Amino acid sequence: MSTCTAPHTADPGLLEHYVKKMLAAPVYDLAVRTPLQAAPALSALLGNQVLLKREDLQPTFSFKIRGAYNKLVQLTPEQKARGVVTASAGNHAQGVALAARELGIEARIVMPASTPELKVQGVRSRGAEAVLHGASFPFALAHALQLAEWSGCTFVSPFDDPDVIAGQGTVAMEILRQQQGPLDAIFVPVGGGGLIAGVAAYVKYLRPEVRIIGVEPEGSSCLLAALRAGERVILPSVDGFADGTAVAQVGAYGFEICRDWVDEVITVSNDELCSAIKLIYDDTRSITEPSGALAVAGIRHYVARHQFRGHTLVAINSGANINFDSLRHVAERVAAQGAV
Ligand SMILES: *Cc1c(COP(=O)(O)O)cnc(C)c1O
Repeated sequence: MSTCTAPHTADPGLLEHYVKKMLAAPVYDLAVRTPLQAAPALSALLGNQVLLKREDLQPTFSFKIRGAYNKLVQLTPEQKARGVVTASAGNHAQGVALAARELGIEARIVMPASTPELKVQGVRSRGAEAVLHGASFPFALAHALQLAEWSGCTFVSPFDDPDVIAGQGTVAMEILRQQQGPLDAIFVPVGGGGLIAGVAAYVKYLRPEVRIIGVEPEGSSCLLAALRAGERVILPSVDGFADGTAVAQVGAYGFEICRDWVDEVITVSNDELCSAIKLIYDDTRSITEPSGALAVAGIRHYVARHQFRGHTLVAINSGANINFDSLRHVAERVAAQGAV
């Protein structure tokens, strides 16, 4: 499934607004500049040059530390003193926990009851309070918003916030510096749309010829649904396998950018995600979580469909927070599909 958005009628001033925020974002107090790494086996398999942006190598094993820190560092002293509350499927939670500890801010984090233990521990070990609530992210979100209202703490959205989007967009600043030669497309995993909004804003401002392609799990394709409807829709249910991107409604700030500046959105199945985890492992000897493998799964899907050859394609490997036990299921799904 895919959709192409209408030609740009949008205001490039919006992009400039975000680019300025990205240039000023002090994310490197905590985040690291991650490698943009060749993937020789994957490139040979697919007949295209595939480069992996290794956001799984961040201190919290996902890019979320960028947006979380950029948001928290800009709070007023009064807001910092009152503390923050957030809802997260787990990776934003760890980013907020680490950023809050660094800045001396109290953080309370609501996560769905089904959140992998590894992510819950990642929050608690960084000194934040973890509250497990609700069957999926939308329920956790509703609870966190209520807590913020009752307590007067600042709510920090995992994706629907301009400072969070600008923080995530610093990934694109690095990609364009690291790949100054040919670059045909950047494949970006999508949950609530914060990462792709930041990436699209930066790339379309500076190198508009580079295609920005969003990749969503089939079971939670809220950006694709919103682009088709022309407005942000709420999915009636979300599949939780790719827990980092299991979001029912794309954020409003992100959608404002994505509707004009994202070239295409595709979806992949859970089996395609499992195969992509193996392909990434084969090239890097590192493990990604299901959401972290979305972009590679998307490249494989896209190349097969369009008979793409000889292009330079970047995949953002967005995270590595997977319970060790879950690897059994991933390996079984790959085996059941035969050779990948
Ligand atoms: C949050 C997350 C995403 C998606 O980011 P959004 O800004 O919500 O679209 C992708 N991959 C991983 C590993 C994540 O944690």
